[in-house]
Amino acid sequence: MTFSEFPLSKELHASIRRMGFEQPTPIQQAAIPAALEGRDLLASAETGSGKTAAFLLPIIHHLMAKPRGVTRCLVLAPTRELAAQIAEHFKELAAGTSLTCAAVYGGVGMGSQERAFRKGVDMIVACPGRLLDHMRGPFADLSSLQHLVLDEADRMLDMGFLPDIKRVLEVIPKNRQTLFFSATLPSPIVELASKLLRNPVKIDIDRKPSPVAGLSHAVYPVPSDRKQGLLLELLGGRISGSVLVFTRTKHRANRLADFLDKNGVRCERIHGNRSQSQRTAALAGFKSGNYKVLVATDIAARGIDVEALGSVVNFDVPHQPDDYIHRVGRTARAQLTGDAYTLVAPEEERDFGAIERALGKRLPRHRAEGFDYTSKPAASGRTEREQDRGPRRQPSADRQPARGSNSRISRGSAAPSRRRTWSR
Ligand code: AMP
Repeated sequence: MTFSEFPLSKELHASIRRMGFEQPTPIQQAAIPAALEGRDLLASAETGSGKTAAFLLPIIHHLMAKPRGVTRCLVLAPTRELAAQIAEHFKELAAGTSLTCAAVYGGVGMGSQERAFRKGVDMIVACPGRLLDHMRGPFADLSSLQHLVLDEADRMLDMGFLPDIKRVLEVIPKNRQTLFFSATLPSPIVELASKLLRNPVKIDIDRKPSPVAGLSHAVYPVPSDRKQGLLLELLGGRISGSVLVFTRTKHRANRLADFLDKNGVRCERIHGNRSQSQRTAALAGFKSGNYKVLVATDIAARGIDVEALGSVVNFDVPHQPDDYIHRVGRTARAQLTGDAYTLVAPEEERDFGAIERALGKRLPRHRAEGFDYTSKPAASGRTEREQDRGPRRQPSADRQPARGSNSRISRGSAAPSRRRTWSR
């Protein structure tokens, strides 16, 4: 199948050619004709499958044919990076049209986003929390919406956005086209989808998530305190090109980035403690090749799309098989080739076994020849777990346990919490 078979506008065909897309990916083959007919979609598609163009192309085509000046499409996405990425993809695809799009997310000023609402840009790509902030004001008018896209819906639910999404749904027109994309379809997602969608075309819903073809996996068993050294060794030899490295926590991301920096590897970091401008600068430096390595946590890395990303390294094994799929999906995107390396400490074997079961195969184990795998005593005298909690706090007068009623409060708040926290 070729793109020329889709009844898309000539401007869109020109963009497709300019972007070098030769053939529609499987999700595009299934989604584009159905969405062009105005059908709702429930699509199970992972990152790297070409899902963004699968919803943008038919929506842009529809938007071109109608009167302008009001926002007619809303895309909801879980993270700032993904929202920015989708808006960028829109600009590339809609380049030959006069259609406009704005990304709306937290961590940056509200002013330019407010102006975009006031102008009535054709498409808003938003993270649910910031969108709700705007909806409390007078400018965010979504009453003319004709298309709604939920991208990475499973991730939005994981991140606790369901109440926000429901509030948005209450105020937007019921008569619209809804395109629902999710890498996985657990029951809360199916329930939400069944409320939102009208007789949807279902795409790939039985497919088990699996990393894109063309990807090779290499597993390096290693004691956890030798991971930094092993990564340095691999970066000096086997791993070449741009490398995205995933850590479990932001403190581990900081420690690893500091270590690589000290050892002469040009490296940046991206995680939840960094401001939006720091994240944007880190990503731009990585994309332009200024930094060979970008160290990231899972949530911060959602939506990162770097062309010709050679390798992904799982410095820490993800807890969930789906996170593995999402991480390694950053490389070998849209049917190119790439390498995924995973450093597995003995205490992570269990989680890694679950990933292998989900993939349906055991992955090859490797040993770096000549590398000293012997554990060294920690110079700082702090355990790995203590170091994960971040820099050691200096004892200070302020932090002495208070007497009286305050001390009860502080003891209470130190008790283990049942609430799920997002330290990433
Ligand atoms: P996505 O899954 O939407 O995040 O897209 C992954 C990457 O694939 C992006 O860099 C797109 O520009 C690229 N892409 C999307 N569709 C195609 C296609 N048909 N052929 C080649 N690359 C594509």
